[in-house]
Amino acid sequence: MSALFRARRAVAQCLAGSRTLSQLAELPETHQLLRQTCRDFADRELIPVASKLDREHAFPAQQIRELGAMGVMAIEVPEELGGAGMDYLAYSVAMEEISRGCASTGVVVSVNNSLYIGPVLKFGTEEQQRKWITPFTTGEKVGCFALSEPGNGSDAGAASTTARQEGDEWVLNGTKAWITNSWDASATVVFATTDRKLKHKGISAFLVPMPHPGLSLGKKEDKLGIRASSTANIILEECRVPLDSMLGPRGAGFKIAMQTLDSGRIGIAAQALGIAQASLDCAADYAHKRTAFGAPIGKLQAVQFKLADMGVALESARLLTWKAALLRDSKKPFTKEAAMAKLAASEAATFCSHQAIQILGGMGYVTDMPAERHYRDARITEIYEGTSEIQRLVIAGQILKEYQP
Ligand SMILES: Cc1cc2nc3c(=O)[nH]c(=O)nc-3n(C[C@H](O)[C@H](O)[C@H](O)COP(=O)(O)OP(=O)(O)OC[C@H]3O[C@@H](n4cnc5c(N)ncnc54)[C@H](O)[C@@H]3O)c2cc1C
Repeated sequence: MSALFRARRAVAQCLAGSRTLSQLAELPETHQLLRQTCRDFADRELIPVASKLDREHAFPAQQIRELGAMGVMAIEVPEELGGAGMDYLAYSVAMEEISRGCASTGVVVSVNNSLYIGPVLKFGTEEQQRKWITPFTTGEKVGCFALSEPGNGSDAGAASTTARQEGDEWVLNGTKAWITNSWDASATVVFATTDRKLKHKGISAFLVPMPHPGLSLGKKEDKLGIRASSTANIILEECRVPLDSMLGPRGAGFKIAMQTLDSGRIGIAAQALGIAQASLDCAADYAHKRTAFGAPIGKLQAVQFKLADMGVALESARLLTWKAALLRDSKKPFTKEAAMAKLAASEAATFCSHQAIQILGGMGYVTDMPAERHYRDARITEIYEGTSEIQRLVIAGQILKEYQP
């Protein structure tokens, strides 16, 4: 092959690659349209009620139904199963806009899409997909994901919930902790061990309808933020489900959980971006309107520097999030990038919401303005679907693998 031919081919490949890369700077038209649709929905249906939903711990049932009608409750699900048949970039864009309007609604959407539907779509049989996905695409029903337990969150492989086979049934026993959507859900994916000696390799995944005999709910947790979403224990006491309730092969539960969380982290990164963007919107607007010492506070360099740092944190986290989504959409490895996106975006949300309160001064500290809610909502994004410490472990593990001598 001549040097000239090789060079031409390299340039052609660069051009093909740059089309994907350009999506990081400017979204494809389809995604821009989805972004605008979700933005309008958030402005019209979420921002006006977010504070009330938060105060009253009220599940946004009406909004979730409308999002279902828009296709947003099952973005990646093929149309023949009732979904929107779009990709993860679309999911990220929609999640950000919805969470900008109401982070609680954002987590309900996220859990239904990536934690509940996600594993059924990837590991379920055709029959399971029809039964457990299609009714959850419309917003009439939402699902949940029960991995954490009172005794183990980060150390998910230490699950103590058990599943034993008795005749043609699985019998589940144990307590799952912190389960988002639990009070409002119609089904859950439950992780339980069929053989404790095998440690994480003994864990399997099960599909359980809700309500169901032997399954009960703990009290609704009284949370710092995302208060319009329900979080509670799921208690399983001799809870019997048919044998075909197992999702994926026996012993594959830990793998299913970890792969589900890889994808889920892109959704939580996008949720955090929405909170960061809402904080910046609120702070920049206030900086124009509030005067001190005879001029708008936006003229003060101290305030400008805060806005600049917020913008940088937000934009860089958004690029990481879109990159992780694009990698996933092109079926390339994305574990490291999803963890980076979640880490960067959740820290950006905490930082931006903290700075927004500072820029608003006293008005940042009261519920008349949304800044204090953004601050409370931001905090969870550094905890669930893997704490920031766990994200750093994942990222470092991947980097060390890349540099293996
Ligand atoms: C509002 C809310 C909603 C949730 N929703 C769900 C849900 O829908 N489904 C579900 O299954 N779970 C859910 N969770 C659980 C959540 O994923 C866990 O809380 C999270 O994984 C952390 O686990 P933990 O709380 O047990 O903390 P722990 O694991 O006990 O960690 C405590 C501290 O130790 C640190 N730590 C632990 N291990 C390491 C390590 N190896 N290296 C460095 N630091 C470490 C952690 O980072 C943290 O700072 C939710 C939690 C909350 C608060």
